[in-house]
Amino acid sequence: MMNPNINEKDKRRIRDIVQDFARKHSLWVLAYGTGCGAIEIPPTMTSRYDAERFGIRGSATPRQADVLLITGYLATKTLKRVIRTYEQMQAPKYVIGFGSCTINGGMYWDSYNTINALDRYLPVDVYINGCMPRPESVIQGFIKLQSLIAEGKADGADKYQENLEWYRENQKKIIHNWKMPDYNW
Ligand code: SF4
Repeated sequence: MMNPNINEKDKRRIRDIVQDFARKHSLWVLAYGTGCGAIEIPPTMTSRYDAERFGIRGSATPRQADVLLITGYLATKTLKRVIRTYEQMQAPKYVIGFGSCTINGGMYWDSYNTINALDRYLPVDVYINGCMPRPESVIQGFIKLQSLIAEGKADGADKYQENLEWYRENQKKIIHNWKMPDYNW
């Protein structure tokens, strides 16, 4: 039973610590295999690297997922689906940009058909660099995300909400046939 002398602020703080502890050890991942880096996901999740020992496991649908993993270059055509997927996820939710292509376009930096910086369109909590990142790097990226969650600093979804106008402006520059339901917060 909780000490009756603890004030409301401390109660909230304790609740946040407990919730963040549970969240960081239970990350359900929706891996959106946009680029070639997706090939590193099966070894990361299966017996050789066994990501599940860190509480990281796959999710069947956006509604159940905590983490959206964008695994590499992102075609302009795919961006719309990725945004729709992200907006269907329940908060708290996080985005990991996987591979150099998500950071600066990588080897496709001057392609007419891919985006260069994922964080102009979605709020990226953690980037994993490399082309392609090995499973060790992928696990390291998840451990970084877990530390941010534990510190209450994995706040990409809050930033998305606060800066939605800016994100929408960037998204609509790329997606010309914008016909999507409004984001239902
Ligand atoms: S970073 Fe490299 S491995 Fe990943 S999608 Fe881009 S080209 Fe492919």
